[in-house]
Amino acid sequence: AKHLGGNGFQFFTDSLQAYSLDRLQLENQLRKALDDDQLVVHYQPKLHLSTDQIGGAEALVRWQHPERGLIMPGHFIEIAEETGMIIALGDAVLVKACQQAAEWYHCGPAPIRVAVNLSVQQLRQNHFAERIAQILESANLPAEMLELELTESMLLEHLDAVTENIAALQIMGIKLAIDDFGTGYSSLAYLKRFPISTLKIDRAFISELNEFSEDNAADHDAAIVRAIIAMAHSLNMNVVAEGVEEAGQLSFLKQHGCDEVQGYLISRPLPASGFTALLLENAEA
Ligand code: C2E
Ligand code: CA
Ligand code: CA
Ligand code: CA
Repeated sequence: AKHLGGNGFQFFTDSLQAYSLDRLQLENQLRKALDDDQLVVHYQPKLHLSTDQIGGAEALVRWQHPERGLIMPGHFIEIAEETGMIIALGDAVLVKACQQAAEWYHCGPAPIRVAVNLSVQQLRQNHFAERIAQILESANLPAEMLELELTESMLLEHLDAVTENIAALQIMGIKLAIDDFGTGYSSLAYLKRFPISTLKIDRAFISELNEFSEDNAADHDAAIVRAIIAMAHSLNMNVVAEGVEEAGQLSFLKQHGCDEVQGYLISRPLPASGFTALLLENAEA
């Protein structure tokens, strides 16, 4: 590393200032982006392994910034969380994703269950379930075509509003998935308490897998993945593997009965039009 010399402190404060200016600017621009409808939603397919069909998609937000181009959520979700803008942002994503899912459902090429990521700030709002009902109704989308992705920590805070919303969502017929499964807390008690239909195995457990993982006793990731699949199935849940990038990972997951896979090997997240094109290809193949 280069020596900062006597100006190390100056360097530090300058870059900190540049950082916070940039962050303040992004924060103001994000507020405007919400008003000006600059958010777009991309869709990443989930491939069902037993049928080789795409039956689902994860909705992932992007920001079409007028000067900076397409900005990924890693650059603005945290700002949105910290400022409370995540509620408006999340609502906008839900509306767009439900409208898109309704288009695929009513006009083809195939019904696609769309999964939307939630923030705990959304799920602990008093009338969140009613808001979802309203969005479904105005999009004309059946509730079973919407899935919500939650993280383990959201269920472990024991917030009454969260529990009530989840119960109401289940009655409506909305599916709930646990995102990044295995990376959160060690207690699995919440799996009994909440009506979870899907576990999404975090990419961290998938990335080192390959077709030889089976024969390698020291491969802890392989053991964990097998255990998650077995546990999910005995609890009557579906399993989705995230971050599948290589054919060897896919064949391991197939061999062990994983239900669905998602990752760059199948497709990167795509704009809705690209996703529709992929569905048409998938139907022909
Ligand atoms: P996530 O929910 O875990 O979403 C999966 C992320 O992994 C996405 O990144 C996706 O593009 C990426 N990914 C998919 N397949 C692969 C693969 O094979 N390899 C690798 N290395 N990555 C893969 P993205 O779109 O940048 O989103 C990042 C995170 O931002 C999401 O992680 C989610 O936590 C958050 N996010 C995205 N959209 C929303 C939203 O509408 N609301 C909220 N609250 N959070 C969102
Ligand atoms: Ca997710
Ligand atoms: Ca995830
Ligand atoms: Ca993640």
